[in-house]
Amino acid sequence: MDKLLRATTKNGEIRAFAVNTKELVNVARSYHQTTPVASAALGRLLTAGVMMGSMLKGEQELLTLNIKGDGPIGGVLVTANGAGQVKGYVNNPLVDLPLKVNGKLDVSGAIGVGNLTVIKDLGMKEPYVGQVELVSGEIAEDITYYYASSEQTPSVVALGVLVDTDYSIKQSGGFIIQLLPQAKEETIVQLEKNIQELPSITQMFESGLDEEAILKKVLEGFEVLVHDISSPEYYCNCSRERVEKALITIGKEELDAMIQDGEPIEMNCHFCDKKYRFEMEDLKKLI
Ligand SMILES: [Zn+2]
Repeated sequence: MDKLLRATTKNGEIRAFAVNTKELVNVARSYHQTTPVASAALGRLLTAGVMMGSMLKGEQELLTLNIKGDGPIGGVLVTANGAGQVKGYVNNPLVDLPLKVNGKLDVSGAIGVGNLTVIKDLGMKEPYVGQVELVSGEIAEDITYYYASSEQTPSVVALGVLVDTDYSIKQSGGFIIQLLPQAKEETIVQLEKNIQELPSITQMFESGLDEEAILKKVLEGFEVLVHDISSPEYYCNCSRERVEKALITIGKEELDAMIQDGEPIEMNCHFCDKKYRFEMEDLKKLI
């Protein structure tokens, strides 16, 4: 089962999140039939979404991470709530690019130049919206930059997806470490030292460490207090009713035109690929 840990250091200067998302990214891959590079891009953003969603105060609050770029993947969108439910899609799941010279999947090449928009729907009239330009398109660095520039929170973000030879997800997960305002200089120095010596997140999972051991390794030299362990999941809340509502919003004229065509229509959910079929009779009812 996937696991999300929320922790602080005992000195109260750092808060930290670590997550294993192997199963939920595998679910996403099976829905979207993504190529390895698309799995990596979507998996990284889903992993970030799980952790950032867990920072929301209420379970009903909703986080959206939307990356738009000029690369062949087009865009990556993820939504997450405070209850650990996450879902997402990429515009082009079939994007295929050669590996980078270091042998890694070319996520930044797939995404290209663009921006990251973070929307937090906190149940108020207006949602919070923050937007930054992508610094690398590798996603972790882009989220680090978002926290620094939009939320003034110095953070270390690591996200990793390792795709197996059969295209299934072998490892996936990440961590977010954030310095709280009262963090002392020596804490920052220690954290920087830890990060410099750190293998990649997927290397750590491959070596047998779990999310808790990884968190303790990142926070070596600090006393770590784990406050909460939960099980994030890929969850789509689409329903026929929601699709009907969406159809109604396109207007009577469009619906009339569909009926004139005389063909039943099929709507696919972007997030879980579930198909909703509407016969002539159903369309007439909507009008
Ligand atoms: Zn769905």
